[in-house]
Amino acid sequence: MIIVKSIEQLSHNPFKPPFALIPTMGNLHSGHINLLRLAINKNFNPVVSIFVNPLQFGPNEDLKSYPRSLERDLDVLKENNCHGVFIPEQEEILKNIENLNAPISDKLCGKSRPGHFDGVVTIVNRLFEVIKPEACVFGAKDFQQQLIIKHLIKEKHRHIKFLSAPTQRDENGLALSSRNNYLNESEKIEASLIFKFLSGMSSELKLLSRVNQKNFLSELKSIQEKYQRKIEEKGFEVDYLELLDPATLERFEYNSNKMLIAIAVFFKEVRLIDNLVIDLASSSQ
Ligand code: AMP
Repeated sequence: MIIVKSIEQLSHNPFKPPFALIPTMGNLHSGHINLLRLAINKNFNPVVSIFVNPLQFGPNEDLKSYPRSLERDLDVLKENNCHGVFIPEQEEILKNIENLNAPISDKLCGKSRPGHFDGVVTIVNRLFEVIKPEACVFGAKDFQQQLIIKHLIKEKHRHIKFLSAPTQRDENGLALSSRNNYLNESEKIEASLIFKFLSGMSSELKLLSRVNQKNFLSELKSIQEKYQRKIEEKGFEVDYLELLDPATLERFEYNSNKMLIAIAVFFKEVRLIDNLVIDLASSSQ
């Protein structure tokens, strides 16, 4: 496994093409490893970057306490046949950086975390420029982030192929996340209720679209409110729970059968996000 720690080293083209960049903030779990496997399955050499991006944290967020485990991460990557790792120094990455503004960042996580996606897109653009990958892999857990990166590629890096990996969950359905480390085992089981509620909503919405398509749109608000109440009753503070068009993140208007159910909650002061993209025309989950 080739470990690169500076942009200067990158100028000697250490990674063997074609390679796919997988940007991460470290503290790797099997959700991240799935991204690496996807790159390999698509015949790209996986190159993982590990960088806790200070630009994507708000002033009251968990930059300082964000879990870091570099030695273990490197072991895990090696065990999983990672081709390359880029671990830049903050100072070098941020030097003379071009600050970008993310599109659609007035919605969902962008609305709740002002500046977050500007920070994400600024760093991913920098990584693309210095690493020059043929492809990149991002996880569907961060649905809005995926849309924003696709936009960045369209605007500035058309040659980079975008690969999307499905959300990896634990045995109870909780979406894997480095922030789950803030929770103990029984809290993680409680937190997996988020996925159960999303799945329940999905079934109810699919049923409604089959039996009462005429009133479907007018019923959405009451379904959303009902589930928000149920979730709050279980001790979650709901930041948002929204039913949207997955192509635009605009309100769902039945332009297609695809609907995004997106949620962010605070649970024991930990911010957790999840989403499902459902096909209203299909009866399966
Ligand atoms: P992070 O280290 O949290 O910034 O995540 C790095 C990449 O891993 C992003 O593309 C995330 O969407 C992806 N990722 C994180 N958790 C998961 C998960 N549970 N399933 C799929 N992808 C994930």
